[in-house]
Amino acid sequence: MAEKSKTGMYESVMKQFEKAADIMNLDSNIRKILSNTNNEIVVHFPVKMDNGSVEVFTGYRVQHNNALGPYKGGLRYHPTVDIDDARALAIWMTWKTSLAGLPYGGGKGGIQLDPVKYSASELERITRRFTFALGGNIGPEYDIPAPDVNTNAQIMAWMADTYMSTKDSDSRSKYAHVVTGKPINSGGLEGRDRATGFGVVTTLQSWADWKNETLEGKSYIVQGFGNVGQWTAHFMKEKGAKMVAVQDHTGTIYNENGIDPIELLEYAKGNKGGVAGYPKAEAIDNDKFFALQCDICIPAALGSQITGANANDIKAKVIAEGANGPTTPEGEEILLKKGVSIIPDILCNSGGVIGSYYEWLQNRNGEIWQMDDVIGKLERKLINSFGKVVVAAAEYKVDLRTAAYIVAIRRIELTYRERGVFP
Ligand code: NAD
Repeated sequence: MAEKSKTGMYESVMKQFEKAADIMNLDSNIRKILSNTNNEIVVHFPVKMDNGSVEVFTGYRVQHNNALGPYKGGLRYHPTVDIDDARALAIWMTWKTSLAGLPYGGGKGGIQLDPVKYSASELERITRRFTFALGGNIGPEYDIPAPDVNTNAQIMAWMADTYMSTKDSDSRSKYAHVVTGKPINSGGLEGRDRATGFGVVTTLQSWADWKNETLEGKSYIVQGFGNVGQWTAHFMKEKGAKMVAVQDHTGTIYNENGIDPIELLEYAKGNKGGVAGYPKAEAIDNDKFFALQCDICIPAALGSQITGANANDIKAKVIAEGANGPTTPEGEEILLKKGVSIIPDILCNSGGVIGSYYEWLQNRNGEIWQMDDVIGKLERKLINSFGKVVVAAAEYKVDLRTAAYIVAIRRIELTYRERGVFP
């Protein structure tokens, strides 16, 4: 038997795919194609450190499928990044872009490193050298990276600049959309920063409307207080929901009367991004987090967090997957039996890639979009996706994840049927 991947995400995505493919009776040839990744790029590259020594880093980019358009997906800087994680995350991107109706395929990658160990100038050189090593394996009409865990607008600005610097000076500006999630001045889109969190809350609102519920007054817990967690908390506050616990890499904080997301963000900014030590909440053990009393649980950090070992303890009625792959198939089985709804990652956090698509269009067409346009378009698109998933769930009598997979995979299947397989 093949060795289990370190985080288990690859096993999760493949099990989810097999389940949906069986139920939808997916064409066996297309099943074969989609069970494999198209390209897997591994690069080893040297970088000069601040102390004059040289370190060699390993970077990954996996391109799963591009039947619908260029590969699209984030880059992660984290010690767990390896080829299996990159594969799993690339496959999730294929389903996510297809479900959202975007003209993209799926890709993902990153560098195996712990960014806190490096200075800003070292991270800049690592990023630039990684971009250079990837060379023609990325490109604005071929494979378009974006931010993910521990990567941000600054990293995207360095990537765009490095990529553009390798082109002739008279055509450089044509290549700004080689990455999305850039700072506004460097071609970024107003609202891209909040797009994923806004999407998480929009899909939660759609779920509440569907169930004749309201988000107002509901209590929730959030794992991860980075880009996705912070913006989700921001928009949950606008809905009148109450954040009772937050967990990040520094610890877990709890206050049953509510934690204000804006105050917590201010605190975290002065605390190297961490929530530990926040004075208006108590510190609790990390392993008590998922068992806390709440209405809504929002994993917005890493994969494989809700598993067969802790799913039984979960009190929430609904899980909104801000992170990619936070729930393992074993965890999901337990939750579904308990009657817990799961808004699956490929729907719940798809606001990010939809925002990225708008940024790509803005750059490609030389336009400047306004915040209101971005948020309005994003909301309509997400509500539309949610509706499609609910219809498929009723038609096939399946859970929301399997329904989302069926909608996503059916679109790719139809495209292959129309075009055939070359030659
Ligand atoms: P980020 O780097 O901004 O934040 C990550 C957060 O996770 C931090 O608060 C960190 O402390 C926390 N964390 C790390 N290790 C942890 C641990 N062991 N336990 C608890 N918390 C831990 O990353 P992000 O962009 O917010 O991404 C979070 C998740 O959302 C990832 O799964 C990512 O793939 C997914 N996602 C991000 C986007 C996006 O637009 N950024 C889009 C779709 C999905």
